[in-house]
Amino acid sequence: MGRLKLLDTTLRDGEQTPGVAFTPAQKIDLAKLLDAIGVDIIEAGIPAMGGEEMRTVSAILDLGLGAEVLTWNRLNLKDIQQSVDCGARHIHIAAPVSDLTIAKKINKTREWVIAEMQRAVAYCKDRDCSVSIGAEDASRADGNFLLRFYTLAAREGAARLRYADTVGIQDPFTAYEAIKKIREQIDIELDYHGHNDFGMSTANAYAAFKAGADVISCTVNGLGERAGNTPLEEIVMAARHLAGAEVNIDTHRFPEISKRVADYSRRSVHPGKAIVGAGVHAHESGIHVDGLLKDERMYQPYDPKEVGRVREFVLGKSSGKKAIDHVYRMKGLTLSPHQVDAVLAKLKQGQA
Ligand SMILES: [Zn+2]
Repeated sequence: MGRLKLLDTTLRDGEQTPGVAFTPAQKIDLAKLLDAIGVDIIEAGIPAMGGEEMRTVSAILDLGLGAEVLTWNRLNLKDIQQSVDCGARHIHIAAPVSDLTIAKKINKTREWVIAEMQRAVAYCKDRDCSVSIGAEDASRADGNFLLRFYTLAAREGAARLRYADTVGIQDPFTAYEAIKKIREQIDIELDYHGHNDFGMSTANAYAAFKAGADVISCTVNGLGERAGNTPLEEIVMAARHLAGAEVNIDTHRFPEISKRVADYSRRSVHPGKAIVGAGVHAHESGIHVDGLLKDERMYQPYDPKEVGRVREFVLGKSSGKKAIDHVYRMKGLTLSPHQVDAVLAKLKQGQA
């Protein structure tokens, strides 16, 4: 597999999580950290919200980050002009493409969406901005209309297209088929944006990448509306380890950025959360600890050091003698066989 580009939308889709609002200073801090870990594209916010959001987006643009800083816009020229006024050079425009969203949300027609999209792309190009065209609710759109929409966006001069599984209804098979079909017809950069309503977002993003998506939209800790977006840490590690993809992200800093986002969003990370959960590199079972002491590949799929963590042995009800001996040794204490037996007996009673 080739290189996977990461588009982080913690500052936009992540902040849309009910009850989550970052301060301007927190957004600037997170933008710097996202850039430092190597994220390719940072979706910084929605200038159309005006006032403070515009000032924050401008401040992020002024940081001179290595990452592309993208602003999110609805399909209207007023929104786009507000992005331009902030100093944005990269504009994302989300256009509704399913009949449900076209008819019920904006009360328009498919032809209106196409014409308006073309007008919006031309407007951005006239202002020397690169354009990403998003297809909102793409997973519920008519396939032929979607292809036509993308083809015309590419022809008009869009630099990137986004496929949004807005309500998280795809599975890895449908995501793969949908992206493959688009990839066969269109050769500009393609970004997959999925939600986690059925717990499928990482698997779907992974399938989309395998089908030819160049960019995956994600958020730190999977923050986002409802069940959230594809977690950055999960898709990075899956693409690297399962697909053998090149991913230029400094994974050693995952604990730092995960904690920062958890603190700022006041949304704690479940201990069992893949990659960044506090408990996912800990082992208690006697059989597992014994196996790990023989060969660390036995019960861990990757070295925890890669994600800035250390393997931990936790003593508890299912611990064995070797684990007890090892844990005490790590603390500089050597127990006699009798003492190991005594500790084991206490652990079995839940008293140690
Ligand atoms: Zn979204």
